[in-house]
Amino acid sequence: MPSSSPIALVTGASRGIGRAIAVELASAGYDIVVNYVSRDDAAEETAALITEQGREALLVKADISRAQDRERMIEATRTRFDRIDTLVNNAALAPRERVDLLESSQEHYDRTLEVNLKGPFFLTQSIARWMVEERRAEPDRKLYIVNISSLSEYTSSVLRGDYCLAKAGMGMLTSLFADRLGEENIPVNEIRPGIIATDMTADAIANPDFKEQRVDPTPLGRLGQPEDVAMGALYLASDESSFVTGAELVIDGGWTAQ
Ligand code: NAP
Repeated sequence: MPSSSPIALVTGASRGIGRAIAVELASAGYDIVVNYVSRDDAAEETAALITEQGREALLVKADISRAQDRERMIEATRTRFDRIDTLVNNAALAPRERVDLLESSQEHYDRTLEVNLKGPFFLTQSIARWMVEERRAEPDRKLYIVNISSLSEYTSSVLRGDYCLAKAGMGMLTSLFADRLGEENIPVNEIRPGIIATDMTADAIANPDFKEQRVDPTPLGRLGQPEDVAMGALYLASDESSFVTGAELVIDGGWTAQ
């Protein structure tokens, strides 16, 4: 028997932006599949926050770059909820090290592209097939796909070229699936966050010059918080955005406007 509540699968929901999105969607009535890859403790904290909202959390430890992990995650979701309404492609690897474009390795390139682009592509493909089944069974169901991209989608950083390439690919992933799934009335959109205070950016933010050089000059003059991005994801996973697809929502405190 399918769950009576909407279900959102959020990748990389154990920490940072993914956790904030999971909690925000839970507060709006979604039960959440909390995907993560290694941090059981953090995933359990996310689950507790979801439970506080009166919603259910299903923890699935799965590496989104691995086909068998993605299949196991979908199978676990089917077994527990027998339903999918929203996919949020949030998980990504930060560059392990900053390496000049002329020195970067194929191994690092492959790993970054596998996690940050190939994994999301094939997860979206699998979930989209399932959503099409859902649409056939229930023509009025609201179904959404939200991708988390980055300013790196169009701004080059020569010390993390592979990350930029993966995020540029994420932009086309959004366009492709928006185009293909429009006929199924499944909106596919993306958020481009600016600099958000999470573990991914903690080292950079800890640099004593960071605030003066990277934050103060931006129009709003403050760092983004995961909740800033989560509010955008909530909009894109709700009927409020029913005429929006293939779009980019920039949540960067005005960084792009400079
Ligand atoms: P974060 O704090 O580093 O958290 C990364 C999350 O992804 C964790 O939940 C981690 O799980 C999970 N993860 C990593 N590799 C995975 C894999 N192979 N399979 C499944 N899960 C995996 O990152 P964040 O700053 O919240 O970033 C979230 C998204 O926003 C990313 O797409 C990032 O590129 C984007 N973004 C971030 C910023 C920023 O300033 N923070 C700016 C622009 C865009 P574990 O806890 O198990 O390790």
